[in-house]
Amino acid sequence: MLEVRGIETFYGNIPALRGISIAVPAGGVVAILGANGAGKTTLMKTIAGVLRPRSGTVSFLGEEIAGLPSHRIVRRGISLVPEGRAILSRMTVRENLEMGAFTRSDAKAAGRDMDLVMERFPVLKERAGQLAGSLSGGEQQMLAIARALMSAPKLLLLDEPTLGLAPLVVADIFAIIREINATGTTILLVEQNVRQALKDSSYAYVFETGKIALSGPSRELLQEPRIKASYLGQ
Ligand code: ATP
Repeated sequence: MLEVRGIETFYGNIPALRGISIAVPAGGVVAILGANGAGKTTLMKTIAGVLRPRSGTVSFLGEEIAGLPSHRIVRRGISLVPEGRAILSRMTVRENLEMGAFTRSDAKAAGRDMDLVMERFPVLKERAGQLAGSLSGGEQQMLAIARALMSAPKLLLLDEPTLGLAPLVVADIFAIIREINATGTTILLVEQNVRQALKDSSYAYVFETGKIALSGPSRELLQEPRIKASYLGQ
């Protein structure tokens, strides 16, 4: 579904991605792992059209999307839940969700998706009229994910969705990710929670300073000595 080939992305003269190639099959969950500063967020922003790669290609459903503005990439079916959530804290939960549908031309379909999202996240339905800033961290993350679903994405990009959340809430977020995938949405997931990310994905890439240091089926990476030593504390 998504094929990234030989991507190089720079901040000024500093390379953050030095020739990254990844593939995400339709219906799958693919994980991106790696230390802080390895380039994971830069990859997500490059795919979503927030950053423009200096070279390389990004093909989505057979069409080249690298360099397109982000709203057009959203229309093609890719939605990013950014690191840090970026919800609009002085707007209500419902208003935040409406913002997620801004690229939709079919108001009826967007209305149906609002109902579906409210059903999937009962806590957001209960708090639809509250200011988003009054939600807990986990609820804000759910709102950020729900907002991304309002554009009816085929591919959902999740950048560190469990960062800073309590263990029980982390488990809730992973359950939501599995559910979203089970209903047919393909997922590319950046995670610090390596063990759970490998359990819930079929394939994973490990980034190191802008390059892929290691990749393979997630089940195999769980047994890989380098992963065990560096990320699983074994
Ligand atoms: P983290 O988990 O900390 O978000 P990451 O793997 O997502 O890490 P990136 O945020 O993609 O890493 O950063 C990759 C590199 O690019 C790092 O060296 C970082 O310092 C640098 N970088 C990121 N954003 C900028 C920016 N706006 N300007 C300059 N350099 C940046």
